[in-house]
Amino acid sequence: MPLVDSKAMLIYAMENKFAVGAFNANNMEVAQAIIEAAEEERAPVIVQISQGAIKYAGENCLFAIVKSFAEKAEVPVVCHLDHGVDIATVIKALRAGFTSLMFDGSSMPFEENIKITKSLVEIAHAAGVPMEAEIGKVPDAAKGPLSHEEIKKYMTTPEEGKEFFEKTGVDSLAIAVGSAHRMKVQSASLDIERIMNIHEKVKAPLVLHGASGVLDDSIIKAIKAGITKINFATELNKAYTEAVKKKLSEDPELVDVRKYGEAARENVKKVVKEKIRLLGSNNKAEDVLSYISGKKYFKDTGINKMPIVE
Ligand SMILES: [Zn+2]
Repeated sequence: MPLVDSKAMLIYAMENKFAVGAFNANNMEVAQAIIEAAEEERAPVIVQISQGAIKYAGENCLFAIVKSFAEKAEVPVVCHLDHGVDIATVIKALRAGFTSLMFDGSSMPFEENIKITKSLVEIAHAAGVPMEAEIGKVPDAAKGPLSHEEIKKYMTTPEEGKEFFEKTGVDSLAIAVGSAHRMKVQSASLDIERIMNIHEKVKAPLVLHGASGVLDDSIIKAIKAGITKINFATELNKAYTEAVKKKLSEDPELVDVRKYGEAARENVKKVVKEKIRLLGSNNKAEDVLSYISGKKYFKDTGINKMPIVE
């Protein structure tokens, strides 16, 4: 089926207390693995393309890959821009056809982040595309070890979350609640009380970044507290690379890229399926589809409205 946008999918997940997995794809094999895993689990899914992936392969190429697999799939698939860090990246992704966008102004001063996010939300909504933005700052574990104090310093407060949400009109909000990007070991626990307090003030889908480093038990609690979109990238990269290394060490003479590409794809698929079940989005595809087609979300929620583009 054609790609869908993330608006109704995430509202349905929020109201039904499960989360949608947003998985980063850097190449064809990973995009294919994500969509095949979602099909086998009958799950709605978000394939996301980061700034780094765009630098590697270009937004048009990655979008075309995701779109062509989505069209053959029977589950709803979103193509989302992950961490657009400047205006040009967001606009280029919008022109390429992405059905969901993120602007990340979290390294900017608060007021500037609000100003630029708001203007991009207006543009995206005029084109019928929902927008995610970030407040607080999800730190990067690859830049060195993080102390508990450092992680805490950047966490989102319920007050700034509310102000940012109301002033910008974003459709979903990425919050910093204890996770970090690019963690290779699953060891972080989230501040569940903080998520609950933010969700009380922000009645919109909340997004967790850097979930590869978060303990399963903490993820389950976070979903109950209001997290609706959960991003995984590092675990997929790990699964891919481990499979390639294994295949090549077993057969050092191997030169056919498809042989180890296939092994990598299977291993990524396995991880995506596990995550889908962890988030509770398995067997939700049909419900999400009927919700989307009814467009109930425009009537039933007080959340930021978006023009319907037929
Ligand atoms: Zn992120």
